[in-house]
Amino acid sequence: MADLRPLDFDRRLDRLRLALVANELDGLLVTNLTNVRYLTGFTGSAGIVAVTEADVVLTTDGRYRTQAGEQVDAAGIGGRVAIEIGGAEEQRTALLERLAGAARVGLEAEDVTWAQAVAWQERLGRDAVRSAGIVEALREVKDGGEIDRMRRAASIADDALAEVLPMLAAAATSTLEEQEFALALDSAMRRRGAESVAFETIVASGENSAKPHHHPSARRIENGDPVVVDFGATFEGYRSDMTRTFVVGGLPTGKLKEIFDLVATSQSAGVAAVQPGVTTGSVDAVCRDIIAAAGMAERFEHSTGHGVGLDIHEAPWVAAKATAILEPGAVVTVEPGVYVAGVGGVRIEDTLVVTDDGAEPLTRFTKEVVA
Ligand code: ZN
Ligand code: ZN
Repeated sequence: MADLRPLDFDRRLDRLRLALVANELDGLLVTNLTNVRYLTGFTGSAGIVAVTEADVVLTTDGRYRTQAGEQVDAAGIGGRVAIEIGGAEEQRTALLERLAGAARVGLEAEDVTWAQAVAWQERLGRDAVRSAGIVEALREVKDGGEIDRMRRAASIADDALAEVLPMLAAAATSTLEEQEFALALDSAMRRRGAESVAFETIVASGENSAKPHHHPSARRIENGDPVVVDFGATFEGYRSDMTRTFVVGGLPTGKLKEIFDLVATSQSAGVAAVQPGVTTGSVDAVCRDIIAAAGMAERFEHSTGHGVGLDIHEAPWVAAKATAILEPGAVVTVEPGVYVAGVGGVRIEDTLVVTDDGAEPLTRFTKEVVA
């Protein structure tokens, strides 16, 4: 398999400094752990980063003494990021020392609780700035190293589904529960190099397929059932996301066939609409208008898609009226669905990376319907 391009942490820190200037901040306290990882490479379950014009400091507790140093060094920014290890009070002191000269300090408003915000402001001795989405905005545009990892995650997921799909075909004549199939798919991803699943796998069969986020159950998958399979792999922190809907034992008929055809048409139009320079709202509209024109608007009740990266759901949001503009390097899903209680549901989802002149699907599994 091709080598993975490196992740450029130096560039991330440089871009963050520019973003602080653009947001008129002298410092930022990064408490969101995904953002901490994005900026420093540190993957522990507790840690805070303070960034100012002059300094970057990562604080965490003694459990991560060795790991923090190793990961920051592996990220190639050991010379730029100071690490302070200690209890909660020692960490706060270290962070506040770095922020002492910063007049305008941002707190990640979507991450800190009210109580934490009050406590930080008391210790700072001044108001903090409610900032939101600063690091998240940097994360929207992926570099080559990130795209390589997402491509690998998607190909692990593709290969795992190919491996276990015969189980679904065999369900026409044997016994298979939703949760058994989900477990087989998850373990196939792990065996193929996924460090974890990207999120809890959805396997929704028969009437359950009409529930967009069904939890895999002990329901037995029957001949003729539609089966929605929504899943992904995580590789070096980066996630993939794909949905395919199958029918066990033969092609869909009647109302179910109508739904399959409609969602397939909507999804492929949405995929074709993903281009640099367009708004995510326009991609949503392409998918939604096709479903609405078939009189099914109220059967498509979720957004068309979302960004993917270190988080399974992140900016940019591909939703009705969303104004985010797709830039080369953005990675988004296109996943329209139609759900009719008593008949069944169909969702088809791909993860795409926006390129200079279009988009490239990272998820490549066939859209053939018969399992
Ligand atoms: Zn999904
Ligand atoms: Zn998704």
